[in-house]
Amino acid sequence: MVNHQHVQVLVIGGGPAGSTAATLLAREGIDVMLVERDMFPRYHIGESLLPSVLEILELTGALEKVEAFGFQHKPGGHIEWGSQQWDLLFQDLPRQYGYSFQVIRSEFDKILLDHAASQGVKVLQGVAVQQILFDPDQTERPTGVTLSEAANSQQSWDITFDMLIDASGRAGLMANRYLRNRHYHEAFKNVALWGYWMDTARLPGDKAGAIATISIPEGWVWAIPLHDATMSVGVVMHKETFKAKRANQSLETIYRTGLEQSPTICTLLATGELVSDEIRVETDYSYAATQFAGPGYFIIGDAACFIDPLLSSGVHLAMFSGLLAAASIASAVRNEVSMAEATSFFEESYRSAYLRVLVFLTAFYNLYDGRDSIFWTARQLSYHNETSDTTLKSAFTRLMSGVEDLHDVQYASQTGRHLILEGMSKQVEDFLAERPTNNTGGQTMGKFGGVRTMAQSPEHAVQGMYIVKEPHLCIKRV
Ligand SMILES: Cc1cc2nc3c(=O)[nH]c(=O)nc-3n(C[C@H](O)[C@H](O)[C@H](O)COP(=O)(O)OP(=O)(O)OC[C@H]3O[C@@H](n4cnc5c(N)ncnc54)[C@H](O)[C@@H]3O)c2cc1C
Repeated sequence: MVNHQHVQVLVIGGGPAGSTAATLLAREGIDVMLVERDMFPRYHIGESLLPSVLEILELTGALEKVEAFGFQHKPGGHIEWGSQQWDLLFQDLPRQYGYSFQVIRSEFDKILLDHAASQGVKVLQGVAVQQILFDPDQTERPTGVTLSEAANSQQSWDITFDMLIDASGRAGLMANRYLRNRHYHEAFKNVALWGYWMDTARLPGDKAGAIATISIPEGWVWAIPLHDATMSVGVVMHKETFKAKRANQSLETIYRTGLEQSPTICTLLATGELVSDEIRVETDYSYAATQFAGPGYFIIGDAACFIDPLLSSGVHLAMFSGLLAAASIASAVRNEVSMAEATSFFEESYRSAYLRVLVFLTAFYNLYDGRDSIFWTARQLSYHNETSDTTLKSAFTRLMSGVEDLHDVQYASQTGRHLILEGMSKQVEDFLAERPTNNTGGQTMGKFGGVRTMAQSPEHAVQGMYIVKEPHLCIKRV
């Protein structure tokens, strides 16, 4: 296939971020093409969803299809963290949806991608972006891509566009290959190992569909029940611990030894059998690009940033950034705001949502009341080691220690992020003041759920702008 075509918006990647952005833009009457390297369904990790995802699915029109599919209903989470344990039930939160889903991502992502096509997105599957082409006069502005069929990379063709959305996930084409501005988080240099089990027990009673998140001396463990009767079970540990073990242990031994550190997981798995062909491994998965948007491009989902799966925030951030990008582009195309305003609104609001998760993640790790391995010590040390960094991450981690507010405010005012920092600082203090002793975890996560409101009302405006969903999707000045 060799032809040349121009589209208004080209989206790279058909995961939750790309599908969401493309669907919302097509529903606004914008000409969108989405290019996905794989043929769906394809395997992906990231199975436990937050309730906020349902609100975005409602907006894209895919909620009914997801509801009808029969995914495992997720009422919330069971958390064992150091000496504390509590249950978080979404129904106790002041949210529109008091539940969410545990999904098999190959199926979930296919529903979303098929839905995008049904809404008018030109979806090309099995087609990879080989290279991004840039404006010769404005070298940071992408203007086209060279595509080839994944099965036959010899034949290629070009597509040009007005605007690029990079939703290529961890591959992160723009940040990794062209801008080269992806940075990895020292404090979250973890390794995750996981597999799938059959015939396991479930958590008791109305927690049967909940995720179990359990600290162990070497890190933490997840158990996610899925609708095909399997359970996704993973272990997260420090990279150095993993490296030392890997010198003389198989992946399966490292994995099983990790699981054995949790009595609750042992009980769940006692009758179960590991059925996956391989133990899957992911390393160094916490990172962020220094820039999420620029002339002619928006980077969304994991292509821009990702932090630690502890809070199950990945798909939420992917879809939320898809919503932000779609609203920003739709408004700029209609001349409701300038492209510069739209770009800067997106950059600031996605980064704030991401940083908020980072703050809560750090707070959550800080709730752990033992320091019994390199995993937990590394988190403690990160507060001290990184105080001289001029990155936002260090400003936020220092903010967590609560003793260097002045530095934070100075740093924040230099970067124009004063108000965001102030607001978040307050929320984090509240968060820590409400350490979940018995069953107050719901309130804790309720605050985390504040990500949802970011940039979605005049009170939560970012750079004086917020998203409006009716009568059409756009960003509006306060
Ligand atoms: C161990 C682990 C556990 C996790 N658990 C959870 C969890 O429980 N809950 C949760 O919400 N999140 C979880 N996540 C995070 C979640 O997996 C991601 O945040 C989410 O999948 C991001 O979606 P995305 O659309 O940005 O990227 P992806 O879903 O990765 O989609 C990107 C797509 O781009 C395509 N692509 C890449 N390069 C090209 C190219 N050159 N041309 C065309 N297409 C291309 C890929 O094929 C892919 O389909 C976890 C992550 C890890 C590492």
